[in-house]
Amino acid sequence: MARRPQVFLLVTCEHGGNRVPSRWRSLFTGGAALLASHRGLDIGSLAMARRIAAAFGAPLIASRTTRLLVDLNRSIGHPRLFSAVTRPLPRAERDRILARHYEPYRREVESSIARHVTAGRRVLHVSSHSFTPELDGEVRNADIGLLYDPSRRTERRFCDEWHAALAAADPALRVRRNYPYPGKADGLTTHLRRLFPGNRYLGIELEVNQRHPLAGGTSWRRLQRSVIAALAEALH
Ligand SMILES: [Zn+2]
Repeated sequence: MARRPQVFLLVTCEHGGNRVPSRWRSLFTGGAALLASHRGLDIGSLAMARRIAAAFGAPLIASRTTRLLVDLNRSIGHPRLFSAVTRPLPRAERDRILARHYEPYRREVESSIARHVTAGRRVLHVSSHSFTPELDGEVRNADIGLLYDPSRRTERRFCDEWHAALAAADPALRVRRNYPYPGKADGLTTHLRRLFPGNRYLGIELEVNQRHPLAGGTSWRRLQRSVIAALAEALH
């Protein structure tokens, strides 16, 4: 019987902070509220990513630069790769942003995965994100979203197990699949699926409702613990 390949966990966080590099700071004059909002960063996503990486001794690749400069979770050519703030910039300036802040990040993630795939390992990539509790008047009725490609059996099975373990860890948590976004939509994991086959690469986006990190305290810590305990169970 073929042995199951060894699983290597990689944690990433594309929207971890709202820093603005000095060269582009003047674009955000008067934009403190925008930068601090869910449009500037994924609130709580870096804390979650750090907790997961620490719990499993996994490498973490994270960006603390605001997504309003360039969105690391969008492909080149996507209409929302740049924000309303950076889209009007001249082409050369947008290219400079890509060269300094987009390409190094995407290359680091790609090469980390490629190294392990080449060594015969299976990579579980958990990309940590968070979503605003309410968008355009619509209340998001989930605490956690697990985003994956339903046509990839390995990802579907892994999310079955993670979901079941989350329900067991905390029955009050509302966990939904491919919510609030479909896992096949444009993003880093979707891009990586085109580079690596399903038996070698599993790309899961973990989406946490920002009402938890915004509330903070023991319930936020409990949610983090539940996510980690359930992930350990699913990896077992
Ligand atoms: Zn995000």
